[in-house]
Amino acid sequence: MSVSTGLGYDCHRLQEGRRLVLGGVEISHTHGLLGHSDADVLTHAIIDALLGAAALGDIGQHFPDTDERYRDADSIALLRATVAEVSASGRRIVHVDATVVIERPRLAGLREEMRSTLAAAMGVDLGQVSVKATRGEGMGFVGRQEGAAALAVATLERREPDACAP
Ligand SMILES: [Zn+2]
Repeated sequence: MSVSTGLGYDCHRLQEGRRLVLGGVEISHTHGLLGHSDADVLTHAIIDALLGAAALGDIGQHFPDTDERYRDADSIALLRATVAEVSASGRRIVHVDATVVIERPRLAGLREEMRSTLAAAMGVDLGQVSVKATRGEGMGFVGRQEGAAALAVATLERREPDACAP
């Protein structure tokens, strides 16, 4: 069994009147994230972490923002497609850990819903997915509420070909 890890990072600008979707959960707020798709920054970071762990490139290669098919795309559907590619490469998800960096709103009460939505999309148990949230403490683009970011680490395992096979 060989284990690999992947890192994902994403950020999007906040804009008044846009929908705010994080980890597939729509959150009531004055501002939402701006992007070609639904701009779900958390799900995008997880997609990049999974692709990285499988050495399958990045989210921009798989779902280009110049492609009209992905306009206002549901990022959870993109995550499902990514997991299918990861599985087809012979790998299995061991664990995903992610952190959302956003000043407002506070996400403490929504973390469990994001975890269960992401776990269902990836076809893994709740115990294999961790979602955390932190703020910018008034500093930088997050602190000024110009945007939000997310980081993720994915751990995959791959069954090696049987060494004893002739
Ligand atoms: Zn993104």
